[in-house]
Amino acid sequence: MTVYYYILVFTYGLIIGSFLNVCICRMPLGESVVKPPSHCPNCGTRLTVLDLVPLFSYLFLRGKCRYCKAKISIKYPLMEVLTALIYLPLFYKYGQNGQYIEFFAAAYLVSILIVVFFVDLKHRKIPNSLVISGLVGSIALIAYNFFKPLDIYGDGNWWNPILGIIMASGFLLIVSLISMGLSKKEAFGFGDIKLLAVIGGYVGWKMGLIVLCASLVISAVAVLSTAVLKKDNNKGNIPFGSFIAIATYITFLFGGEIIKLF
Ligand SMILES: [Zn+2]
Repeated sequence: MTVYYYILVFTYGLIIGSFLNVCICRMPLGESVVKPPSHCPNCGTRLTVLDLVPLFSYLFLRGKCRYCKAKISIKYPLMEVLTALIYLPLFYKYGQNGQYIEFFAAAYLVSILIVVFFVDLKHRKIPNSLVISGLVGSIALIAYNFFKPLDIYGDGNWWNPILGIIMASGFLLIVSLISMGLSKKEAFGFGDIKLLAVIGGYVGWKMGLIVLCASLVISAVAVLSTAVLKKDNNKGNIPFGSFIAIATYITFLFGGEIIKLF
């Protein structure tokens, strides 16, 4: 029985991954993710359902457009498989023991964070539409938890995710405000701070703090290693949103165990 669930989750990941491709391409340019419908970038032909089956269309068409035979980038099927592979451990962690709301919430947030990861890495910005999409889920979870406590927050208190929003984002907000007051420079982008606030609503205050600490540790390691390798092309402007994305995924999988250590 269980193996069918995993196949289902994998397929779900492929489909969502195919949509994330569209988001990653269009969102940084400020374009709509629904209009116009997908088309071949070379010949402009509008793609049909047959051309858009995640992964399998690419395999059957051998990586070429069905109409003009132009090569299709391998990054599209890779993104679909990556999303599916990222979903599986989340299902193992949450869905396996019947925490379906936690699983879908985690998968939803992680999907948004996959887009954040790639867009922030390349463009050094976090589109507001992603923060707002995340916020919608955050509010829904807070409302649900008010009536029926969710396991993920750990203590059954209705205010836990609200405290999570404050705890996850508060530190960076204070640092940023002080730094702006002192030197008129933002220490962290407000996109990062808003993103952390949204994440706090999904994971609660304890894991929210873990996300914050893990993001800072990962960025410190990244900054040090790029300094050592002298490969910093962006002059100290780090893709902090990408590090928040990695930290959140790690926290979803191991946050409970990390809390037990303290
Ligand atoms: Zn074409």
